[in-house]
Amino acid sequence: MQVVIIGAGIIGATLAYQLGSIGAQVTVIDAAGPASGATGRSFGWANASFYADEAHYRLRRESLHAYRCLAATSGVSDIRWTGCLCWEETGDAFDAQANALSALGYDLREIDRAAFAELEPNVSPPKRALMFNAEAAIEPVALTQTLLAQSNARLMFGCRVNGIVVENGAVRGVRVPGGTLPADRVIVASGTGSQAILADVGVHLPMLDRPGVILKTKPVAAILNHILVAPGQEFRQLPDGTILAPTAANHQRDDSDHVAERLDQSAEIAMERLRNLIPDTALEWASVSLAQRPVPQDGLPVIGACGPKGLFTSVMHSGITLAPLAAEILSKEVLDQSLTNSQVDLIAPYRPDRFQS
Ligand SMILES: Cc1cc2nc3c(=O)[nH]c(=O)nc-3n(C[C@H](O)[C@H](O)[C@H](O)COP(=O)(O)OP(=O)(O)OC[C@H]3O[C@@H](n4cnc5c(N)ncnc54)[C@H](O)[C@@H]3O)c2cc1C
Repeated sequence: MQVVIIGAGIIGATLAYQLGSIGAQVTVIDAAGPASGATGRSFGWANASFYADEAHYRLRRESLHAYRCLAATSGVSDIRWTGCLCWEETGDAFDAQANALSALGYDLREIDRAAFAELEPNVSPPKRALMFNAEAAIEPVALTQTLLAQSNARLMFGCRVNGIVVENGAVRGVRVPGGTLPADRVIVASGTGSQAILADVGVHLPMLDRPGVILKTKPVAAILNHILVAPGQEFRQLPDGTILAPTAANHQRDDSDHVAERLDQSAEIAMERLRNLIPDTALEWASVSLAQRPVPQDGLPVIGACGPKGLFTSVMHSGITLAPLAAEILSKEVLDQSLTNSQVDLIAPYRPDRFQS
């Protein structure tokens, strides 16, 4: 069976890896190159502490488990189980967050100022913080490249898909420069490009404009150990010493549909917060990058079959968190394998048909 995946971000790469491991012949096509969209500008925090509702929490938590399986089978080193220290909320909101996550059974504990200072001696310590042990720092670009390399898929880069070829109600291939590439199954994993590709075959996927900006500092000595979530600022340190930080305050909840400042100005604002949080280290920003985040209209993932027979899609924000589970489930469906009851339940709220009238 010939499977074509349109998009070589984290969603396309995890799918190629899963499908390759169960014997499908896969071609991944990208208009630019691997991780050239949102994946290459992501913060890379895999977590279940941020969620919309209980079903969404379960999906995210199961995906953290899927990351452990992926790490074990692929041997990739781009997944680090650093855990997260979070003091985004204060007062009653802090207690409400802790209580809600405890009630869901999340692996967390509260730590005081002294314990925080031991864990993160270079960060101004808050009075109290939540420690989320099960969360991971992902290096999305490296992971995407490694999974594509291990997938055995054929890769076509710099190659925009201009449409899906449908005959007698079933996909037959994709239109690329120079002709039609035949396919029995097509998966649209094209991030913000998905809406246009799907619209061409009558599938409605409304999406929001959600720009996101990420900054990198110049590398410094190793000073941070966890993913850190302070009021209004998330940050973590990469293995090369760079500190990575979204410039938007509380970026996971950021629902702006446009950028309010020039990128250099938003970088300076975030740097001021970072310098207050890490007072004894001289920090300078090195780069700041803007990306459009793939956010379906209701904010939730869209995963599954849609439109003509043989067509599938997988589009979501928090794609770094959700990629391994989405790939595990969708690769089975693409190859006509049965899902377990638990997979059926997990995926039920996220089907593309919720947007078809
Ligand atoms: C600043 C920022 C911070 C984030 N932080 C986090 C985080 O901490 N945790 C988390 O879980 N998520 C985070 N996200 C979200 C996450 O990065 C995305 O959900 C995820 O990367 C989406 O992956 P994707 O593969 O679907 O899309 P993309 O990475 O955008 O890949 C889609 C690919 O499709 C290609 N494409 C599009 N149209 C076509 C076409 N017609 N033909 C061929 N190719 C095409 C593009 O070139 C692109 O390479 C963040 C995003 C941003 C921008």
